[in-house]
Amino acid sequence: MSSSSYSGRHRTPGRHRASRKRTLPRALTPQFALPTAAAATLVLTTTGASMAGSAPLELKTTPVDLALAQSQVTEIRDDTAALAERRSATTDQAALLQGREQEAERVAREKEREALAKKKAEEAKKKAEEEARKAAQKWVMPMGKYNYTSGFGSRWGRLHAGIDLAAPVGTPLYSVSSGTVLKASHTGACGNNVWVEHWDGTVTRYCHMDYFSVSVGQRVAPGEKLGGSGNTGRSYGPHLHFEVRPGGENGEPVDPIGWLRSKGLSL
Ligand SMILES: [Zn+2]
Repeated sequence: MSSSSYSGRHRTPGRHRASRKRTLPRALTPQFALPTAAAATLVLTTTGASMAGSAPLELKTTPVDLALAQSQVTEIRDDTAALAERRSATTDQAALLQGREQEAERVAREKEREALAKKKAEEAKKKAEEEARKAAQKWVMPMGKYNYTSGFGSRWGRLHAGIDLAAPVGTPLYSVSSGTVLKASHTGACGNNVWVEHWDGTVTRYCHMDYFSVSVGQRVAPGEKLGGSGNTGRSYGPHLHFEVRPGGENGEPVDPIGWLRSKGLSL
């Protein structure tokens, strides 16, 4: 078959038949126009028998031409069908691939959106946690209004382990930062007193309180009220005796003024 005689699946059945008629030798009678290659083989066998009986030359060659033409047409038909099938399969495959690609793109976009939302949520959470941490680690003064009456240091041969801040009985006292109430006692020279262990390990002590409103183990925030100032224990006039132990409950007390200053606070 030549490429010019083949025009693919666009050829209409009508035109196909017309073409076949054109390619057939004129000498052929309709009974020789057998439709298949199998029939053509039969014709060849018959021809072989005719040749033995000294048949005319033109009759010997004609069935061969017919068989060739028939087989060519059949081949073209078969090829056309096969090509159409392949094209159809290719189109289906292309559509399938395109569908898969679109689905993959959609999934990728969805994942991207989810990742972005997750990232934003994590950032917001981190920011909130950072703000909460900063707020919890804030340092404040233990009292609002007071008169500073005595400093840290040796007094009559003994260590005055804190500072005295005079204020009327019942003046609110505040935890200087977040922490846990370590002790809350009614006894001793300190009178009603509260110990708070802070987030950095520092322990602060509040003495001579009129009352306290927290209990041992309670968590407190910076500036949270511990109770009211007073004149309990060994005290000569209502005041807060305030102590700081940066090394913890059993650590050495330090001068609260310098310590408060290191926290950005001053008397
Ligand atoms: Zn004191």
